[in-house]
Amino acid sequence: MTLTVSLIGRPNVGKSTLFNRLVGRRASLVHDEPGLTRDRLYADAEFDGRPFLLIDTGGLELDSDESIMKMIRQQAESAIADSDAIFFVLDAQAGLLPGDLEIAAQLRATRKPVFLMVNKAESAVNKAASVEFYQLGFDRLFAVSAAHGQGLDAVFEELEILFPRPSGEYLEPEKDSHEVRVAVIGKPNAGKSSFVNKLLGEERLLVSEVPGTTLDAVDESIEYAGRCFRLIDTAGIRRKRSIFKDSEKMAVSSSLGALDRANVALLLIDASAGITEQDLKIASFVDKKGKACIIVVNKWDLSRNLEISADRFAEHIRDKMPFLSFAPILFASAKTGRHIFDVLEMAIEVSDTYKKRVPTSQVNKMLEQAVLGHQPPMVQGRRLKFFYGTQVSVAPPTFLFSVNVKEGVHFSYERFLVNRLREAFGFKGSPIRMVLRERS
Ligand code: GDP
Ligand code: GDP
Repeated sequence: MTLTVSLIGRPNVGKSTLFNRLVGRRASLVHDEPGLTRDRLYADAEFDGRPFLLIDTGGLELDSDESIMKMIRQQAESAIADSDAIFFVLDAQAGLLPGDLEIAAQLRATRKPVFLMVNKAESAVNKAASVEFYQLGFDRLFAVSAAHGQGLDAVFEELEILFPRPSGEYLEPEKDSHEVRVAVIGKPNAGKSSFVNKLLGEERLLVSEVPGTTLDAVDESIEYAGRCFRLIDTAGIRRKRSIFKDSEKMAVSSSLGALDRANVALLLIDASAGITEQDLKIASFVDKKGKACIIVVNKWDLSRNLEISADRFAEHIRDKMPFLSFAPILFASAKTGRHIFDVLEMAIEVSDTYKKRVPTSQVNKMLEQAVLGHQPPMVQGRRLKFFYGTQVSVAPPTFLFSVNVKEGVHFSYERFLVNRLREAFGFKGSPIRMVLRERS
């Protein structure tokens, strides 16, 4: 059964806006006049790859005798009956009104979980004002802004805790999710165009050009080891810049654009130049954007002259780029072609890992064992307690943990948990994100 959620609230609180935000397209009419969206709307929505059914009701206007209001009310009632949870939308700018109290009374009678969505709370003032809605007697209160898409993550984390998704209940992956989307990035002269040209010149590959999203962004599609790769913005990499030198600024901005469309970053480092500030800067974007990464030390054909061993070079990278400690390091030569196919094979593994889902039961088993082996610290006289853990999204893999005191999870304990996740489930080449949610 698909999780079903209905939106209830007085007219004009922002239900339609929220509905559109969650459904992601303008399916219902949004207008300032109260009562304009009268029909009950159903739509398939999703969060973090989990499908759910969203019902928008016309609004409950309990103190009105008009027949249209009566009809709306009946529809809302049957929507409530059909729902697993209710998003009770309120208006932080208008404050708590008598109509809200009446709706609250009716919702309490249903015994369904009610989420107070205190909307229009984009400003700090309105956010602070949202606490007055606790008077309604529900303890799930979220200050949100439907118009600006703020505060919704916390809502869905809570929903996920309340209704853990059955393993396997995810949207069908996109048709091309099997595709390995690769961005070759690095500072000028690292060997990006040599690397791409070498790959494309190989007879082992099936090459076809695919149009990119903008006129001059042309991707190249290649097939290798039974998998389809997309080399993002090949044209940009191969373009010979006769007028403009490949400045650092250009290298950074083109790397950024390509990264956005990629899953896996191949970060090329020029072995003969060592690790420079420019490398660190580009590497930091991989980290910020949460992409999977393989570090490729290029021009390794020159290693004999370099008087540094691969091990030593790798240590040096780990030293300078601790934020990419998850990225495997490979040594290759775009010039001779040595090990360039190892890079592709690794990219397949890393890309799949980046999109991997771990069932909730396994996350919790891991959590239980981790906590047993390494007791969480005391905070403010209380023992830090973990209630529950679940993977809420992929690409990058993101885990939600609910705890009693959020501040109690120090960096070191967070790192400990991330390491345990890696030991238990792999995630080679992927960053792992962690979200903490406080529950009393
Ligand atoms: P409904 O009658 O409950 O469906 O409410 P609508 O979605 O039609 O919104 C009523 C009005 O509130 C519209 O003018 C929206 O633009 C406005 N509104 C909706 N969400 C927000 C928000 O998050 N912040 C602000 N400031 N206005 C919002
Ligand atoms: P880009 O600016 O990152 O695209 O770098 P290019 O591919 O244009 O390479 C810059 C220079 O490094 C060129 O002179 C290449 O011939 C050279 N180069 C690239 N890859 C290698 C390699 O693996 N070994 C050696 N020895 N030289 C390389």
